[in-house]
Amino acid sequence: MNLIFPDDCHVCGEALLEFSRVPVCSRCLSAPTPFEAEFYCVSCKTPFVNRAPLDEAGQCALCRLGTKGFDAAYTYGSYEGTLRQLVHLFKYGKMEPLAADFGAMLARALPRELAVDVVVPMPLHWWKRWQRGFNQSELLAREIGRRWNIPVRNAARRKRNTSAQAGLTNAKRRANVEGAFEIRGRLDGKHVLLVDDVLTTGATASACGRALKRAGAARVTLLTLARTDRRTAIDLNTLRAHA
Ligand SMILES: [Zn+2]
Ligand SMILES: [Zn+2]
Repeated sequence: MNLIFPDDCHVCGEALLEFSRVPVCSRCLSAPTPFEAEFYCVSCKTPFVNRAPLDEAGQCALCRLGTKGFDAAYTYGSYEGTLRQLVHLFKYGKMEPLAADFGAMLARALPRELAVDVVVPMPLHWWKRWQRGFNQSELLAREIGRRWNIPVRNAARRKRNTSAQAGLTNAKRRANVEGAFEIRGRLDGKHVLLVDDVLTTGATASACGRALKRAGAARVTLLTLARTDRRTAIDLNTLRAHA
């Protein structure tokens, strides 16, 4: 029986009744629903579940600080529940085939009329990439590139590992994230689609976006699979530290 029904679903634990590319049942694979946002930043279009992160003019904190490295942000779902579990399996459970399922979600999140010239994955520091064996954002970027027929370029490189920000002073955090990205070649006049798996504060994506613009990009649109749900007020000091 094990040969026919090789595993239980790694998300819900139910026995798998059919072959699939990953040990996740079809119900769990189709469970993540699009982010339901009632509020959007007027500048960058980042969706929010409530009005709290937006000021009177309708701008989010990053736009208000004028430090946003991307011009618009699109995301599929909320980083919670099944989607969060699937992202974890993808990143830490070595389930690269999930990229195909995520590709469908990304394609749904991105407005078809956007004229994007090139897709650039959010880079991982080489050490992290070596440890994980792949860059999850690169797999997602390739999926959207293939579906929309847009070239994918590994143009951004992460010079240092910025994941361990805790314990640093604000000034050090700022320096840490700001000089973290290096762009290979020029992107003059290009509309770049920057792809990342999860959007949290947007500070890292912002720093990468600014680096892309220094390399000539005319416009940077951020596309992420999931975003953390900031129901609570965002920590402005953290944002300023990255600004
Ligand atoms: Zn399941
Ligand atoms: Zn904004």
